[in-house]
Amino acid sequence: MIVDSDSASVSSTAPRLDWDVIVIGSGIGGLVTATQLAAKGAAVLVLERYIIPGGSAGFFERAGYRFDVGASMIFGFGQQGTTNLLTRALDAVGMHLETIPDPVQIHYHLPKGLDLKVHRDYENFLQELIQHFPHEAVGIRQFYDECWRVFNCLNAMELLSLEEPRYLTRVFFQHPLACLGLVKYLPQNAGDIARRYIQDPALLQFIDMECYCWSVVPAAKTPMINAGMVFSDRHYGGINYPKGGVGRIAEALVAGLEKTGGRIEYKARVTEIVTEGDRAVGVRLASGKTYTARRVVSNATRWDTFDQLLPAESMPRAEQKWRSRYQKSPSFFSLHLGVNAEVLPTGTACHHILLDDWAQLEEAQGTLFVSIPTLLDPDLAPAGHHIIHAFTPDWLEAWQTVPSKAYQAKKEATAARIVERLSAVFPGLADALDFQETGTPRTHRRFLGRADGTYGPIPRRKLLGLLGMPFNRTAVPGLYCVGDSTFPGQGLNAVAFSGFACAHRIAVDLGL
Ligand SMILES: Cc1cc2nc3c(=O)[nH]c(=O)nc-3n(C[C@H](O)[C@H](O)[C@H](O)COP(=O)(O)OP(=O)(O)OC[C@H]3O[C@@H](n4cnc5c(N)ncnc54)[C@H](O)[C@@H]3O)c2cc1C
Repeated sequence: MIVDSDSASVSSTAPRLDWDVIVIGSGIGGLVTATQLAAKGAAVLVLERYIIPGGSAGFFERAGYRFDVGASMIFGFGQQGTTNLLTRALDAVGMHLETIPDPVQIHYHLPKGLDLKVHRDYENFLQELIQHFPHEAVGIRQFYDECWRVFNCLNAMELLSLEEPRYLTRVFFQHPLACLGLVKYLPQNAGDIARRYIQDPALLQFIDMECYCWSVVPAAKTPMINAGMVFSDRHYGGINYPKGGVGRIAEALVAGLEKTGGRIEYKARVTEIVTEGDRAVGVRLASGKTYTARRVVSNATRWDTFDQLLPAESMPRAEQKWRSRYQKSPSFFSLHLGVNAEVLPTGTACHHILLDDWAQLEEAQGTLFVSIPTLLDPDLAPAGHHIIHAFTPDWLEAWQTVPSKAYQAKKEATAARIVERLSAVFPGLADALDFQETGTPRTHRRFLGRADGTYGPIPRRKLLGLLGMPFNRTAVPGLYCVGDSTFPGQGLNAVAFSGFACAHRIAVDLGL
């Protein structure tokens, strides 16, 4: 459905608009918005600067390996409840992906020999943790059970736009207790709740790592709503890996988008959000082409959107205020390895986290994240080989001004250090290497189109839980944001939530 004018904003003499909705960027947040709107009958155009969809959930192929560029621990593919947003987003456009259940979310290798696995089965996980901290058996159960209370509230209701009063009223009357529960937890952080039940500093450090490994801040700054989702859904819907690699999610969403009448253009870098008065009415591409639309959605980060695509001098006050509360998290140094299969002992888990010293938790190149997706889907690598993707937080500044020769040497030295650290878990790794490719924060910035290659926003200081994260509408009429710099933050299932909410708000605004 393309209409001639938007009565809310454009006069009847306004020229015909090309699209109902333009989405800048085909990350999972952008694609969920686009598919939801296309499924409701809107004419939707997605403009992607890169050659494939997915953004941080994309992939690349080298020497017979299919590597995930980023995400590989995938929530949201469950079959029950309402929080399985990837399953639901695909379903809405008639798509389905085969997934492979992961029996262990993470195998932690932490300081002072704290070595344990987060099993898919909740009781197994609790028992393993309690074995390490028997004196905290009661507190451990109380803390994680409280996370379930948050999750059960979320998982009782349809997750749509919290900016839509009629939806809020309806959901409140349908699920009053769940709503009150969420209102209670919204301003809280996981660290405060953990400290209510747990005293042992070593266990609190573990809870910090449980949060840090997806929120990139310790528990004190991690919103309880997000913690409740992650710490419970891993045992409920579970972690499930899409057969064929994470890139399949974006590919399937694009297929669903096209099936429902939407369109995507690649190599279509938006350089400007076109405004009329103060209202967003379209976009201009690097090619010079312009498109107009009734609504514009940016799936670029808030920094890219408000610094690059709109005049920086007219930055809305709301954005300035947001920046006083949130900053860019570091980017990552990524090492993508192809290895001979024999180097992985039988029973190796797919995801690992390594830390040698608690003081390094938040430092650049401190915490090391590891994914071995071929343990779940062997077809991603040549026969007899595995993929190991190891990545660690790092800042653009450390790489930005390094001259090209030194840049290469620095990459190799950093990769060698990571291989050495990995060898503590996988002895003989250095001799088992078949393929190696590195990505620095510069690579992340360039290929993912994200300011400074950032993973996303993190609180500058301890905030009131999720209260400060903006929803999808912006201070610029007609412009919406979606993805990890909107509520509820980073992660594929989280940005899918943001996509559902954004599409819902726009559908109401357009009367769809
Ligand atoms: C190394 C790494 C590991 C991760 N691991 C996990 C994990 O295990 N599990 C998990 O759930 N999450 C993980 N994440 C986080 C998750 O991948 C992200 O939070 C999520 O993919 C972000 O999605 P998004 O829709 O916000 O945007 P993005 O993925 O950033 O996509 C935005 C898209 O917009 C495009 N774009 C930007 N600007 C323009 C423009 N001007 N014109 C046109 N197109 C533009 C970009 O090219 C990109 O395709 C990881 C991230 C990284 C980097």
